[in-house]
Amino acid sequence: MPDKPTVAIGLLSGCFGCLMSLLDMADDLPDFLERVELRRTPFTDVKEIENVTIGILEGAVSTDENIKLAKEMREKSEILVSLGACSCFGGIPGLRNFHNSADLLKTVYGNKIPDDDIAELLDRVVPTTQVVSVDVEIPGCPPTAQTIKDALYALLEGKKPDRFRKNLCIDCSRTKHKILTPQRGFLAEGVRTVMELESIDPTTCFLEQGVLCMGIATAAGCNARCTHNNIPCRGCNGPVPGVASQGNKAIDTLASLIPPGALMFFEDCVGMCYRYTAAYDKTLKVENQ
Ligand code: SF4
Ligand code: SF4
Ligand code: SF4
Repeated sequence: MPDKPTVAIGLLSGCFGCLMSLLDMADDLPDFLERVELRRTPFTDVKEIENVTIGILEGAVSTDENIKLAKEMREKSEILVSLGACSCFGGIPGLRNFHNSADLLKTVYGNKIPDDDIAELLDRVVPTTQVVSVDVEIPGCPPTAQTIKDALYALLEGKKPDRFRKNLCIDCSRTKHKILTPQRGFLAEGVRTVMELESIDPTTCFLEQGVLCMGIATAAGCNARCTHNNIPCRGCNGPVPGVASQGNKAIDTLASLIPPGALMFFEDCVGMCYRYTAAYDKTLKVENQ
């Protein structure tokens, strides 16, 4: 048995962004690498999966190969970690569930779809968490390097990191006035995108300026990094644990804030409210046939 905890990383259908964020641990990376032994990872280019202490999966499950790898990683890992919104909730790849996989292949390859060399697409993308049991979830697209570091170091100390159970608005320092008082119709017209505004007040809550911000239905954990940089939250931390549907929560909240019917004029309600959770949300009926 090795003296140090061993780590394996498996890549499913993702974009490597979560792993880049892990590398962003920068100054802490040498210390982390001193404390563990890396086994199967894209950095070591080792393909076999041995029994390891910590297994990390990035990406959603979108192909038959992904299912195989997720199951093998589960079998071989003492602790299995879902890293990133794709792995936890299906994330951006989950948006392909609104399309038929045959149509998608045709869009990418035209009439020359290769017979081999491409993995068999599942009809639907599913989060890793719905294919195998996962011990630790680290959401975010990608999770911040600090979040990844805190979670991994907690595991090395024998603790189980938990997801944040409070709402992002609590961490957001933008001034909130009207949003704190339940009232109908505090937004005069409806919801808008940042691009539609001539100017934006960098200190006031986006929603109070009529700009949709998913902070109202999103778990904290990133120190509200987008809203503090004058960008509305897109919801990549997913729902607060225990909330089945981040999208429904956002729509419920908006319905109590904007005039009746205004949401009907919002062009991409699904793309915004269910952007990271379309594959995870069992209350959302997605037709792709
Ligand atoms: S969660 Fe975001 S950064 Fe991570 S693999 Fe998915 S798309 Fe990439
Ligand atoms: S809705 Fe957005 S901008 Fe407003 S307080 Fe919440 S996170 Fe901040
Ligand atoms: S502010 Fe929202 S979109 Fe930005 S990192 Fe945090 S949860 Fe993700």
